[in-house]
Amino acid sequence: MTFIEVEGVKVDTRHWIGGRRIASDQTFSDFSPIDEAYLGDIAAGGETEVNAAVAAAREAFPAWAARTAPERGAVLRRIADGIEDRLEDLARVETRDNGSLLRSHRRGVMPRVAMNFRFFADYAERLRHPDMEVRGHRQKITYDPAGVTAVITPWNAPLMLATWRIGPALAAGNTVVLKPPEWAPLTASLLAEITHDAGLPAGVLNVVQGTGREAGAPLTRHPGINRLSFTGSVPTAGAVAAAAAPNIVPLSFELGGKSPLLVLEDADLDLAVRLAVEQFDNAGQVCLGAFRLIVHESLATEFLDRLVTRAKALVQGDPRDERTDVSALISRAHFDRVSGFVERAEARVVLGGGPNEELGGLYFRPTILVDPKPGSEIVTEEVFGPVLTMQTFATEDEGFAMANDTRFGLAATLVTADPSKAARLNAGTVWVNCFFVRDLGAPFGGNGRSGIGREGGTWSFDFYCDVKNTVIAPEEA
Ligand code: NAD
Repeated sequence: MTFIEVEGVKVDTRHWIGGRRIASDQTFSDFSPIDEAYLGDIAAGGETEVNAAVAAAREAFPAWAARTAPERGAVLRRIADGIEDRLEDLARVETRDNGSLLRSHRRGVMPRVAMNFRFFADYAERLRHPDMEVRGHRQKITYDPAGVTAVITPWNAPLMLATWRIGPALAAGNTVVLKPPEWAPLTASLLAEITHDAGLPAGVLNVVQGTGREAGAPLTRHPGINRLSFTGSVPTAGAVAAAAAPNIVPLSFELGGKSPLLVLEDADLDLAVRLAVEQFDNAGQVCLGAFRLIVHESLATEFLDRLVTRAKALVQGDPRDERTDVSALISRAHFDRVSGFVERAEARVVLGGGPNEELGGLYFRPTILVDPKPGSEIVTEEVFGPVLTMQTFATEDEGFAMANDTRFGLAATLVTADPSKAARLNAGTVWVNCFFVRDLGAPFGGNGRSGIGREGGTWSFDFYCDVKNTVIAPEEA
């Protein structure tokens, strides 16, 4: 089947390579988390499709790289316009495919997808590094396109995470091969269509669908790629790094987390509760989520009472309904994984703790676990579901030590009257009295097992470009 209809939108199930739709002998089945409905068979690529896509990207590179930043920017802005024109299609298809809230896609995610192109188009045009001087010699620093960028993305925010790499990579003059997640591949196909309609030349963006093992792995070990941007889990990142190592390909890794929400004694309790409830967003399938609530003992009882009341009021159900707050988990395998964590947790269950029996399917209840055994997996491992743990502390030193006691370091949230205390938290992003607020110009990435490198603003161009220093001798007097 070449096309499937999803929420009234026609989606091409084939790859997009060198400006053409390409089918494969192999396919994989795509299901919706909303009701486990079968959506269709999607072309599953392997070594052959990856080789063709990298060859197409290499061929398209010189001409795209030779264009000026404003010329490339004009195409990128047309892509952003195309995304905005088709925002409702993209929102509906992504909701059907990965189960996240339609209202979030309409108001937050898809506008940000367009912004990923517009912002980096503007940024590339302004990108300058001041000249430097050494012993009378001028040093001119320039950002040259690096070549072919491989982009591999997960399912929890597939189009946002893909375009957050594709935007700067294309703005920098690179060409791209995208491998979207096999659990939510559909909006990548729509993106290919939009870029074509916007006049992006053939081969500048290529999309190879398929599983990680069949399509992802050959891309990561391909000697023809010059940059590899991977977003996903820590175990996969290890395999990706090993595959890319022989080719010395620069890597950007955005991986998992187990972020804390630290509530100090002087915190605004209402705010702390509101920020805690936000962690159920996307059914907890958010890399940045602050799932470890660490609360000063003097506030703990009141905090928990209010949190449970607020969390009980969350509406769980079909994400296409604008009133829904918490949807389903992505797949049966992931549902079983989340259930396993909760069943094994040595902690007191004060809310949820299992499937939503009324809804059935892949709906796991918002869950709050109190006083988990210190060091046990429920406080150390990424669950990637609607599961919060709550621990208490007596002294501030103890609170910060608990917050930093993780091998991850993606984000941390602090609720306090004294923002200067944020310096004690070890994470790539620290939010004080807020959550999920960030500009695309700011650095984003994780410490420890949460990743390698930073993207955003200049940091994206540091990664997607070959940064060059040209040293010019002074003219003879
Ligand atoms: P995953 O690691 O299983 O898969 C991610 C991608 O890698 C998929 O496209 C998959 O097909 C591909 N892949 C799998 N095996 C591969 C291999 N051997 N070689 C190449 N590619 C391979 O992750 P997931 O379950 O899709 O996503 C959830 C994870 O992503 C969580 O750990 C979450 O924290 C993380 N994540 C991180 C961020 C961030 O910005 N830090 C954002 C979203 C999600």
